[in-house]
Amino acid sequence: MNATWKPVNNQQKKKRRNRLLLFVIVLVAVGFWVYGFYSTPLPEVAEVEKPTVIKNPTEFSDQSTVLSAPLPKPSSNHILKRTIQSGDNLSAIFESVKISQTIMLQIVAADESLLALDILKPGNILTFSLDEKTRQLINMELFIDPAHQVVYQRVDENSFEYSEIILPGTWESQLLAGEIEGSFYQSAIAVGLNDHETGNIAYLFKNKVNFGRDIRAGDTFQVVRSLQLIDGKLTGQSSIEAVRIFSRKHQYSAFLFEDGNFYDEKGESLARAFQRFPFKGRFRISSPFNPARRHPITKRISPHKGVDFGMPVGTPIYSTGDGVITRVKNHPYAGKYIEIRHDGRYLTRYLHLHRITVKRGQKVKRGERIALSGNTGRSTGPHLHYEIHIKGRAVNPITAKIPMAVSIPKGKYKAFKQRVTELNSLLEPPQFDLVGS
Ligand SMILES: [Zn+2]
Repeated sequence: MNATWKPVNNQQKKKRRNRLLLFVIVLVAVGFWVYGFYSTPLPEVAEVEKPTVIKNPTEFSDQSTVLSAPLPKPSSNHILKRTIQSGDNLSAIFESVKISQTIMLQIVAADESLLALDILKPGNILTFSLDEKTRQLINMELFIDPAHQVVYQRVDENSFEYSEIILPGTWESQLLAGEIEGSFYQSAIAVGLNDHETGNIAYLFKNKVNFGRDIRAGDTFQVVRSLQLIDGKLTGQSSIEAVRIFSRKHQYSAFLFEDGNFYDEKGESLARAFQRFPFKGRFRISSPFNPARRHPITKRISPHKGVDFGMPVGTPIYSTGDGVITRVKNHPYAGKYIEIRHDGRYLTRYLHLHRITVKRGQKVKRGERIALSGNTGRSTGPHLHYEIHIKGRAVNPITAKIPMAVSIPKGKYKAFKQRVTELNSLLEPPQFDLVGS
């Protein structure tokens, strides 16, 4: 940077000094905030290793905002902490820390585009920072796991905004190998795969393998799984990288490629295709995907993580892919909504519904009717709000690269073969003769 500096006059120097001063102040402010966050006795939070901080809105991008806002000083805050137990709900937790339901609703409003507070799990931690004197809530932190936290920060008398902290951590691969005894599900669980991973594997091969008929006792399987670590400790996040199943007659393989999809050894996609839109016919986009949108009602910057399609109440809504219903909820702002998990990396959400015709845990197929559109929650008119998330990030449903292609594109084939070779070196050859045994 110094190399580009040229001799300057005094005024420019002054300007530069001011800018430097501003930068230092901002740095100190962020430092306090980070200190406040990590000085609370949360379990094993890692050193900050280039975290992705997704801010809503850009409260730190405008430096004057930072300077005029009261800096939260950790030493003068009163900290309350609650670890989520099974059966807990947000209202009861707020009651237990003596914070009003009005404040809770302000935080729930800030959470509208994230919906992180709708799925509090046992072990999650909520930390409330109150002003020492006024006892006003300054911020609330949601600790999901060591790699993922959300901070809801007060911005004025009536509102909060969230920042999401996502640490990349490091990923380590491990091989899990097993033999079929009983069902594939039981055998996979026995080698240490979890429910979710086992479901994903079965889903990956569902067009190729009939797990009831084609897989028998004595068949074997191998899975390369990578696990996320922060500071040498597991975060609980995992990803399946490769799977091979040796049945009596066939060998089935799946390799995860850089585009997030699974392919067999020949580069043919294993993912089931999605359909682009969750409805039939055409409806106008009343509000596009826009991470920096101003909310039409509150006028605050509030990311729009989906697309709104204006449509009459009662329009049939269909699942855009095969999957499992993971949420059926009624949110004060998002309205009645559904979330569907399609495999390890795809997730869709359908908000402001009128009537929901599926239940949590239910399996749905692409094109299956799941609801009637509506105008519930905080909404400016009848519409469907539709979201697609890939690996935990909302993407533009209109332009997202969702699995519709059937094979690796020609230009990527060499890179794919290279990845197959790498994963093959992790997958050990079967340890005993399978054919005819
Ligand atoms: Zn919307």
